[in-house]
Amino acid sequence: RSLQNVALIIGVTGIVGNSLAEILPLKDTPGGPWKVYGVARRPRPMWNADNPIHYIQCDVSNQNDVELKLTTLTDVTHIFYVSWTSRSTEAQNCETGVKHYAGSFETIGKIKPHESPFTEDVPRLDTLNFYYTLEDILFEEASKKKGMTWFINRPQVIFGFSPYSMMNLIGTLCVYAAICKHEGVPLRFPGSKGAWECYSTASNANLIAEQHIWGAVDPNAKNKAFNCSNGDVFKWKHFWKVLADKFEIENYGFEEGLEFKLSEVMKDKSGVWEEIVRENGLQPTKLEDVGDWWFADFMLRVEGVLDSMNKAKEHGFLGFRDSKNSFISWIDKTKAYKIVP
Ligand code: NDP
Repeated sequence: RSLQNVALIIGVTGIVGNSLAEILPLKDTPGGPWKVYGVARRPRPMWNADNPIHYIQCDVSNQNDVELKLTTLTDVTHIFYVSWTSRSTEAQNCETGVKHYAGSFETIGKIKPHESPFTEDVPRLDTLNFYYTLEDILFEEASKKKGMTWFINRPQVIFGFSPYSMMNLIGTLCVYAAICKHEGVPLRFPGSKGAWECYSTASNANLIAEQHIWGAVDPNAKNKAFNCSNGDVFKWKHFWKVLADKFEIENYGFEEGLEFKLSEVMKDKSGVWEEIVRENGLQPTKLEDVGDWWFADFMLRVEGVLDSMNKAKEHGFLGFRDSKNSFISWIDKTKAYKIVP
């Protein structure tokens, strides 16, 4: 076996996977030079194709596919598991984020979450959560395999880039803004007054990738779970102006008493989106792929969900991001790759 570190990214076209695929192969990445394999089910999209990785089309929930395409990789030293598949119930779901502390999408609002700001040491909630299932599988494997260690990353809502992601808030807001601009209507905030006015936090996908890599190579991170957020707070009412400016929309804001859900108002907009794509020469995408309306509806109603980065800092991970700059740079990237005008 070669001494080189070899990564296998499961979910390489996702919002975290795409950042890992960009950062891992860089010359100055800790633990490098890395050889990188990346897995997803769909063919490799053009926006992922510049990354010097070995792309493998494989469905990890299909045992035959895994045996055929992944068990043959004998040089892998690190697995970065940054994938999930949405199933209709948590019982069918089997990485992890702050849902660890607040409950799954299915149970949020129905069970009592931990008090925010979240710290890593609180016990699990008494509810089904696919993060817990994944952790248990990981712990069991690590206990059986001598020398195997693990690392768990718990992000907040992720600011990143991936038109294939099931939870891409920035991409979704860009698509919403592009539709408002095209139709000449105000860019109304589709969330709650609480979310508009309270402090929010986010996690830059590149910061998450950096923490994953730190977790893979630094002994201080071994066999531990870490929160991973940008390290600052923001208010949606301030970021909404940034979004409006990027799409040259003058009329924007939150209107009291006129709350609405994107999943409802965007239902009939497929034709409008086709028109926007055609008129602006954008990458061909379907509205249902680039507009994660349910996720935006959920995230823009969340209030005061903060986490603590103290444990990560105490163990030597000092990375941070300015959330406003993050917000701007991912919008710019979404435009640069011609996903939105
Ligand atoms: P995404 O939805 O962005 O990406 C999922 C990736 O996995 C895609 O590359 C997808 O490609 C691939 N994939 C899905 N199913 C399979 C499969 N059966 N076999 C092979 N590849 C598969 O995921 P995220 O990056 O958002 O999620 C990673 C983790 O981060 C999850 O645990 C999530 O809960 C957590 N998280 C995410 C947040 C966010 O804001 N996005 C916030 C907090 C936590 P393809 O469909 O082509 O297979």
